[in-house]
Amino acid sequence: MAVIGLSAARAWIWACVMLDNILYGVQENVIDYNDSIVHYVNALIQDAIHKSASDIHIEPDENTFRIRFRQNGLLYEISQLPHPLATRLITRLKVMAQLDISERRLPQDGRFQLHANTQHRIDIRMNTCPTLFGEKVVLRLLDMKKNSLAIDTLGLSDSQKTLFLEKISAPQGLILVTGPTGSGKTTTLYAALHHLNIPEKNISTVEDPIEIQLKGINQVNINPKIGLDFSSTLRSFLRQDPDILMIGEIRDPETAITAIQAAQTGHLVFSTVHTNNAFETLLRLQSMGISPYDLTHSVSLIIAQRLIRTLCPLCKLPEEFPSQIFYQANGCHHCLQGYQHRTAIYELLPMTEKIAKALLTGSPIENHEYQTLREAGIEKVKQGITSLSEINRVIREKQ
Ligand SMILES: [Zn+2]
Repeated sequence: MAVIGLSAARAWIWACVMLDNILYGVQENVIDYNDSIVHYVNALIQDAIHKSASDIHIEPDENTFRIRFRQNGLLYEISQLPHPLATRLITRLKVMAQLDISERRLPQDGRFQLHANTQHRIDIRMNTCPTLFGEKVVLRLLDMKKNSLAIDTLGLSDSQKTLFLEKISAPQGLILVTGPTGSGKTTTLYAALHHLNIPEKNISTVEDPIEIQLKGINQVNINPKIGLDFSSTLRSFLRQDPDILMIGEIRDPETAITAIQAAQTGHLVFSTVHTNNAFETLLRLQSMGISPYDLTHSVSLIIAQRLIRTLCPLCKLPEEFPSQIFYQANGCHHCLQGYQHRTAIYELLPMTEKIAKALLTGSPIENHEYQTLREAGIEKVKQGITSLSEINRVIREKQ
């Protein structure tokens, strides 16, 4: 555990001065190199937090190490470091994450926490990977202050929120969240678990890896090296008098079958499936050997989602159409290319009688039975929350 005491700007300026000293040897006799690198690492992370970055990439090429932050879902270059300094930076990070500092040929995973103050904790997950020119490091920042986990902050429309609350409040059923990596699936699942987390319920999760620690919930990290996988952990949970279960991802038929059986025997089960939209999830489960009958008798809701950037209210530009005003991104010193934060758009597919009948008879499920991701995105454009080009970027890019 480490403590950040300096303000972001002050620490960053200080770190840059120290970096100059390290690079150019100014006042060499009075500098404690180890102390400098500690402060540089803290300043780097604090800068990332200040900019609401979700990830820090430290990646080598032939001549330098490039540092990039992922902000609002996209990567932006922050600086470049010479190899010797970057190597020491990585060593310091490895010490913080309790990794083997001498191992540079194999990937390693670790985590550590930073406390900006007593109320503000940042969990950081670290991964190293040996690349052609050296180790690449990615730090994923999980800012507990920003993860409010309130259902109201997810970005669901009023009707979607009513349906979501109805389905997650049922005593049994399978609720699946789908979308590509980085589409906010975990936040949706954690928000549901957080809402349901009361002492009267036994809630267990099996994850790869645990992203947010939730008090009062039994969380298990899978460990395939020793045979602790999703399906074996799930079977163990079922012998522990469970009410609510969350499986990080359904990847194989065995996990799919166990999840379906759990949902059919009085448990509320949450999981994710890696598909592009809600309807595809039904096809994916069928390709894993789940019969339409079992699907209709277990799945209660499928949620497909994407994260979209929200327009900066200070600089967005109106674009007038005959019956509607849309907005487009502009850019000012308060935002990043005209966007400030992110929210999610959702496609909610409940297992209605019509959809169950279509599944059982093998007839197509019409899109008008539910609001699609694109339609949900257009709603956000009409509300001035985002731009049409952002919806086109997100939906086209990920399809
Ligand atoms: Zn702006």
